[in-house]
Amino acid sequence: MANTTLMMIKPDAVENGHIGNILEKVTNAGFQIKALKLTQLSKNDAERFYEVHRERPFYGELVAFMSRGPIVAAVLEKDNAVSDFRTLIGATNPEEAAEGTIRKLYATSIGENAVHGSDSDENANIEAAFHFAGRERF
Ligand code: ATP
Ligand code: MG
Repeated sequence: MANTTLMMIKPDAVENGHIGNILEKVTNAGFQIKALKLTQLSKNDAERFYEVHRERPFYGELVAFMSRGPIVAAVLEKDNAVSDFRTLIGATNPEEAAEGTIRKLYATSIGENAVHGSDSDENANIEAAFHFAGRERF
């Protein structure tokens, strides 16, 4: 489906108590929550989720970070979901993120940047299936 994206609220934002604030910004921006859970990635889960970055120098750090504590995973629906959600979260590096974006407000560094958003419709579908069984999606 071209109108869904997969969000993760990353361990840093969960640890810092931002789940409620982030979900409020997401729903205020017009996204509907179609699936939602608090969960934790194993090291192997994080390695598979970020497989595309395996050769990057930060891969080990990224896997350790993403598996160190609970995350919130959600499927979000809206027209133009992938692109509009990436606009809402802002640039990967919070220092470069626009004012008012989720990463500008809640991220602490380029590595610990509060939220994930899918980068294509194809990956949104793959990532939603990674986190949710069919009966968990509405
Ligand atoms: P995400 O996929 O998590 O939504 P993104 O699409 O903005 O983020 P990617 O290039 O896909 O950015 O990088 C995935 C994640 O890897 C980033 O969100 C960040 O946590 C981490 N990362 C990216 N670049 C760096 C870097 N230079 N140093 C440390 N960590 C990085
Ligand atoms: Mg990405």
